[in-house]
Amino acid sequence: MLNVVLFGPPGAGKGTQSERLITKYGLVHLSTGDIFRANIKGQTALGQLAKSYIDKGALVPDEVTIGLLTSEVEKHEDPKGFIFDGFPRTTAQAEALDKYLDARNTPITMMLSLVVPEDELKTRLLERAKTSGRTDDADPKIIENRIATYHKETAPVANFYGAQDKLHTIDGVGSIDSITERLYAVIG
Ligand code: ADP
Repeated sequence: MLNVVLFGPPGAGKGTQSERLITKYGLVHLSTGDIFRANIKGQTALGQLAKSYIDKGALVPDEVTIGLLTSEVEKHEDPKGFIFDGFPRTTAQAEALDKYLDARNTPITMMLSLVVPEDELKTRLLERAKTSGRTDDADPKIIENRIATYHKETAPVANFYGAQDKLHTIDGVGSIDSITERLYAVIG
């Protein structure tokens, strides 16, 4: 199995590049952000809970997110692999994912980390807000919180995979196609 963690700050291009990778490698795309937004739209209890965190630019609690992710993995029978997009976002999530995948003998193959400067991230998120309808993209204060949360809680997850020699950093600035080519080159 090819299990890829696609990593990077908000606005790094994880969702866009995931779409390319799932087509090329036949993978299942699991985006915790997309799952939360679908639940908000469907007005589920999970959606209501997630919304209260997302609207502040904070993370949804680990136990909720981990349970959600593992139940999504289990929905797929005999997959070629997964792209984890927006998960794991804390070291506790990474540890839980490793434990879960080890028990299934399908460990993470690699982490691909998209590197994009902060000014560029803010510009991209505000631009995306014009079409995405995402309230967390439209407010500069929420964007600041999301980026601060990324530095404090999420960035250390790269070290977690780095310690396992699974971390690859990719320049996330340039055309969408050129970034896709960089990712293909690393995955092989
Ligand atoms: P982005 O990468 O642009 O921030 P996402 O769609 O990945 O967007 O996530 C949107 C929001 O959903 C996050 O700001 C956070 O509140 C919540 N979220 C998504 N994934 C996780 C996760 N793994 N753990 C906790 N919260 C999450």
